[in-house]
Amino acid sequence: MNRRELLKRAGLLGLSGAGLRSLAIEPEGVVVSVPKKRALRFAHLTDIHIEPELRAAEGLAACLHHLQSQKDAPSFIFSGGDSVFDSLKATKDRVELQWRLWHEVWKKENSLPVEYCIGNHDCWGMGEKSDPLYGKKYALEKMHLDKTYRSWDKAGWHFIVLDSIHPKQDGSWYTIRLDDEQFAWLENDLTVTPADRPVMIISHAPILSAAVLAVDKQVKDEEGYVLGGGNMHTDAARIIGLFDRHPNVRLCLSGHIHLNEQVTYNGVTYISNGAVSGNWWNGKHFRTDNGYALVNLYVDGSFDNEYFTYGWNDTAR
Ligand SMILES: [Zn+2]
Repeated sequence: MNRRELLKRAGLLGLSGAGLRSLAIEPEGVVVSVPKKRALRFAHLTDIHIEPELRAAEGLAACLHHLQSQKDAPSFIFSGGDSVFDSLKATKDRVELQWRLWHEVWKKENSLPVEYCIGNHDCWGMGEKSDPLYGKKYALEKMHLDKTYRSWDKAGWHFIVLDSIHPKQDGSWYTIRLDDEQFAWLENDLTVTPADRPVMIISHAPILSAAVLAVDKQVKDEEGYVLGGGNMHTDAARIIGLFDRHPNVRLCLSGHIHLNEQVTYNGVTYISNGAVSGNWWNGKHFRTDNGYALVNLYVDGSFDNEYFTYGWNDTAR
């Protein structure tokens, strides 16, 4: 009996993702549970929305303290976008003030490396288009990046950061999707990545979400669900079609909806990890409390994701 048949008999084939143990076959054919080998552990913080009001800086500091005090601390942090608040409609002075505050808090309260992803609130739309910091350039400068999407290999995994924000021509608003150039880049990036290397993708907005259907009155009487273009990726079908050709894509992390949820579809798990700011620093957003996630990636291509609240809404402030 081969390994696949053995696992099938044991009813274990098809299990993936969460869990701290994997299965091994002893020479005599006995299935045993052994500790899984971890490749990496990181924190995912998203939708921090720092601003001088609502004690946002204090909240971010509390979150950073909480995660760095974890007994099993992460080795780096993914910041998933919407670092600041509403740059699209804010003056340059206001945007500058928020980013200054952002860097002050991180410099003072964090000792871990940070990888950035851009969010819709990070795009600046109030200035002249000729301004060297107009649109995404403001955020790129503050995140110390040249490009809004990129990829790299680390600890046996392939990491991809996507840019979900597709601004409308007049800069007034945005649609959540990849433009053709970025999609072609993603297609090529997955093609040149070895098929046996597990892939993790991070985007600001979810590529796929079920929770967006269950909040914010998305149902209109005559039409049924009307999601609009600002919730999850409007090009989800196209991206999922691409993932179908690359089964080594395992995990897609996002934020943006300020809700903690997990959806698995066609072998890929899509997790939205709530928001550090909760309901934009006004309590919980629906039932998702202010929080962040710690993510383990394992050598065998599996993973787990745990959402932690850091007590921001529990204490008298
Ligand atoms: Zn957002």
